[in-house]
Amino acid sequence: MSDRRSFLKFSLLTSAFLAGGKTLLAQGQKSQTKLPTTVKDNPIVISTWDFGKQANEAAWEVLNKGGRALDAVENGVKVPEADPENQTVGLGGRPDRDGRVTLDASIMDENSRCGAVACLENIVHAISVARLVMEKTPHVMLVGEGALQLALDNGFKKENLLTEKSELEWKEWLKESKYQPLMNQENNYHRTIKGSTPGDEKNHDTIGMLAMDKAGNLSGACTTSGLAFKMHGRVGDSPIIGAGLYVDNEIGAAASTGMGEEVVKIVGAHLVVELMRQGLSPEKACKAAVERINHKNPEAYKNFQIGFIAINKKGEHGAFALQKGFTYAVKSGKEEKIYNTPSLY
Ligand code: ASP
Repeated sequence: MSDRRSFLKFSLLTSAFLAGGKTLLAQGQKSQTKLPTTVKDNPIVISTWDFGKQANEAAWEVLNKGGRALDAVENGVKVPEADPENQTVGLGGRPDRDGRVTLDASIMDENSRCGAVACLENIVHAISVARLVMEKTPHVMLVGEGALQLALDNGFKKENLLTEKSELEWKEWLKESKYQPLMNQENNYHRTIKGSTPGDEKNHDTIGMLAMDKAGNLSGACTTSGLAFKMHGRVGDSPIIGAGLYVDNEIGAAASTGMGEEVVKIVGAHLVVELMRQGLSPEKACKAAVERINHKNPEAYKNFQIGFIAINKKGEHGAFALQKGFTYAVKSGKEEKIYNTPSLY
């Protein structure tokens, strides 16, 4: 009896609580803690490297019309993906050591929904396949053949992504076959590829893009052909949610470029967002993540580059790199600019 009485009492209390909850919701009250101010009506898009400028313009077409940040970032990164001159993303990307162009990409929206593909071949717009994974499957990541099958089932066409220029570089590389994935440092990348011109190294990388739309919602995208002449099957940070890309619509978003293995080790983009949650500005959060990588391996700076970009819910942006030479492009209602990113070295 006493058990039954307790049960009835509990049931009554629960019903009263639920009813109260309903009333509260009906009055539009929220139980959430106070979130950072969102800058509405002032969309912003930022992306890695100088080539982010053209990509930002394509994203801006969506944002300026009041479109979703998710559509903006997909539209934006499709520009370098389709550019055969860009040898680190999509069509024209440098192949792996076996001469195969394999792509990694990820996308994440304001509802923390996300999708990714890794080691995808013969499809130019890896980012759109990542979006398919997010929207049309119960999964977060598909790799290789499975990712290709999803693309083909959804009307994507197979294409040869290996351009003459990238094939020539690969054949040149094969002569020594020196597996030394140096990247984006003054002169060293160009030293590894005979025939490439000094200064080219500035354009070898991933595109990571982050946007806030007029509704104040955040999304991000990241797409790359990864390290030039990597081992076949190698996957970097770009398709790994939390490493190459992370979005938390309450706080901000971050993306990375550079040596993916090092970014994965500290779950870089997620770390940057968590540091912003603790109150750091986007630049300071990116700097702390770079310092973390450097702290774990102080010799690191000699061998590779790492760069993070970030935005927060106030529409503030920032970036930080391990070495000199990293740039990021910004477009908003207030500015259109390519920034030289501050660096540790
Ligand atoms: N982060 C990419 C990767 O490791 C490449 C890059 O940004 O250079 O695959």
